[in-house]
Amino acid sequence: MTASEDSPAGTIRAVDVIRKKRDGHELSRVEIDFLVRGYTLGEIPDYQVSAWLMAAFLQGLSREETTNLTDAMLHSGEILDLSEFSAAKIDKHSTGGVGDKTSLILAPLAAAGGLVVPMISGRGLGHTGGTLDKLEAIPGFNANLSTAGLKEILHTCGCAMIGQTAEIAPADRLLYSLRDVTGTVESPSLICASIMSKKLAEGIDGLVLDVKAGSGAFMKTDDDAALLAELLVETGCRMGKKTIALITDMDQPLGMRVGNAAEVDEALAVLRGGGPEDLRELCSELAAWMFHLGGRATTIEEGKNLADRLIRSGQPFEKFREMVALQGGDTDAIDNPALLPRAAHALDVKSPRSGYVGAIQCDTVGTACMLLGGGREKKEDSIDSAAEIVLHKKSGDRVSAGESLCTLMYNSQARAAHAKLMIEQSYRIVDSPPPSRKLVRRVISAVQAG
Ligand code: URA
Repeated sequence: MTASEDSPAGTIRAVDVIRKKRDGHELSRVEIDFLVRGYTLGEIPDYQVSAWLMAAFLQGLSREETTNLTDAMLHSGEILDLSEFSAAKIDKHSTGGVGDKTSLILAPLAAAGGLVVPMISGRGLGHTGGTLDKLEAIPGFNANLSTAGLKEILHTCGCAMIGQTAEIAPADRLLYSLRDVTGTVESPSLICASIMSKKLAEGIDGLVLDVKAGSGAFMKTDDDAALLAELLVETGCRMGKKTIALITDMDQPLGMRVGNAAEVDEALAVLRGGGPEDLRELCSELAAWMFHLGGRATTIEEGKNLADRLIRSGQPFEKFREMVALQGGDTDAIDNPALLPRAAHALDVKSPRSGYVGAIQCDTVGTACMLLGGGREKKEDSIDSAAEIVLHKKSGDRVSAGESLCTLMYNSQARAAHAKLMIEQSYRIVDSPPPSRKLVRRVISAVQAG
């Protein structure tokens, strides 16, 4: 028993809540509310919440604590009422990966198929990229819309992509950036509360979750990813939302380009009907589930056909362009991606020998991109949108000695040599082709989640 146990909210002290979690005890709803509310209001400082996050990370949170944390973070702000929209409101969210630009493709694709997509996204976290950072590579793009602004854009084009406003899950906005710099990201409970608090605040009917598994994901194994997926699906369903999770491969970057402006460019290529095969396949699969949850397709196959037809029609590209214009972005950069930020310097990473790419340590690629300026080390760091890693070879590809594996693109020389070394170490070259891997490994539905 600790000082804060069963105490009324007014007598709780942050230090007691930290100690209680540190010692492995379960926190009450009141204690979790106290912490979330206090941090959101600026009454509990970063250093105490950092200590609590580390205790929660190391000791874990029970299902009850996870539910209470999600609810407290959800209710730290407003829950959007989108009942004025008659179409199904469906979103998708990824647990975070490297080179994952699917949101940029899926929001306009789903909107072109008749769904309403009120997408609230985050910034880069740890070694992973963030949708907001990518969108902000488009000159002028404004992701800081109010909820009224969000609704206005949804009425006009059916999709909008914004960051957390002061109104939506403000607790997550604060906790997210604190976790990013305190080594407390990779916790299923903290990830679940973070994702679901902002997604449940969106006023959606359904949610497709892309739970990444592998060396570039926060969950390294399929089993850990399945546990997170179950937690997410259970939370969504408990809140009355149609929720489904796909466990997808993140043992190597998605697509061929990693970096903020580069990923916008690659997403545009898919919206134009091209782009790398793995990215196209994953988008088709995720869009199919969005259409299925939103009642636009009775089967996943039908959903995929709809997604493929739409891409061929050019409508999702036009939707993206329209959304960018409505959010203040420069559509010239959409029509001509050469106008997106570009880095001044290039450095090739060459294969030390002939063989096949056996594996890529994917989180290292994300961290190397961060070192080139593409991500943050500290909360207040700014980002160089032009920093990029172009992959020329991926798992299973044949490679000759001296052939280029990757090109690093950067403006600041400061850590380019270190990033190059990291990339060299992240590629494993082997004598025979590795077994091919499935992009979508498992689907976790409410039935399986129990
Ligand atoms: N995405 C989020 O929104 N939050 C996390 O904690 C991880 C991925």
